[in-house]
Amino acid sequence: SAKNEGRNTFRFFSNDMNLASIERMAIENGLRTALKRNEFRLHYQPQYSIRNNVVIGAEALLRWQPENSPMIPPAKFIPIAEDNGMIVPIGDWVLREACRQNKLWHDAGMKLLVTVNISALQFKRGNLLESVQTALAESGLEPHYLELEITESVLMFDTKVVINTIAQLRALGISFAIDDFGTGYSSLSYLKRFAVNKLKIDQSFIRDLSSGKAEDSAIVQAIVQLGDTLGLLTVAEGVETREQVDRLEQLGCSKGQGFYWNQPLPADEFALLFTPDSLKSAV
Ligand code: C2E
Ligand code: MG
Ligand code: MG
Ligand code: MG
Repeated sequence: SAKNEGRNTFRFFSNDMNLASIERMAIENGLRTALKRNEFRLHYQPQYSIRNNVVIGAEALLRWQPENSPMIPPAKFIPIAEDNGMIVPIGDWVLREACRQNKLWHDAGMKLLVTVNISALQFKRGNLLESVQTALAESGLEPHYLELEITESVLMFDTKVVINTIAQLRALGISFAIDDFGTGYSSLSYLKRFAVNKLKIDQSFIRDLSSGKAEDSAIVQAIVQLGDTLGLLTVAEGVETREQVDRLEQLGCSKGQGFYWNQPLPADEFALLFTPDSLKSAV
């Protein structure tokens, strides 16, 4: 009967909710001990100069591998860590580890920029300036080989804290990229006020380049021109095909990152990308 169906529907819905909240609780609990248990790793995805196919940088991407369970992707645990504040100590670890690794590469002759993703809460709550200073001091990495990736949502706070923190970090020699550029709700005026260095064109716009239709290139072209006008570098994210690379080159976008070149790689595999030849041209 309809009554029974209603009851079954309700039961199903409620079980579903339980599963979601049970999973969330498991992730929250796991996150509490993940740092102590040394369960985080960084993978590195190279950024390429499109014209000569030279690696110019590496984006550090967080990986969580709890003991005896499958890898949990950042899209699943980072929003939770942002909600409960754990992203602050986790983000500190990411900064220290990325600087430590990049210093090792530098000492081996691989002079690269390493880029680190920073959450809004690290600006609001954490002592980002001190965290960065600690990571640099511990590792001995020169500040201009570290770049911080922030999203438009961070800039939208438009608070003194964000402006001051960025200015202080810029004064140290750190550079800034706006991640997923073009997807946020922001006015363009902030680009001048916040003194960033680079725009990372969101992968959704790169995907559209494959269609070959002129209007699908319009946004990428506009972002590249905006970058040129303001003196900002542009990097295409999520580049997957030769076609997209060619199109980007035509549009004047000089840098790219994506599966076309490489997946994010563990540090030891990343180092294998460097031949004596690529090293000579990269420095
Ligand atoms: P993001 O910073 O925009 O990083 C790019 C994401 O796109 C990465 O996903 C990367 O693996 C993926 N990607 C790279 N090339 C391609 C491609 O050609 N095609 C497609 N479809 N995807 C590609 P990942 O590693 O799962 O990270 C997801 C997001 O999690 C990141 O997006 C970033 O917002 C966040 N995240 C990762 N690591 C950290 C971290 O250490 N701290 C913070 N706060 N956030 C992080
Ligand atoms: Mg990023
Ligand atoms: Mg991105
Ligand atoms: Mg993103």
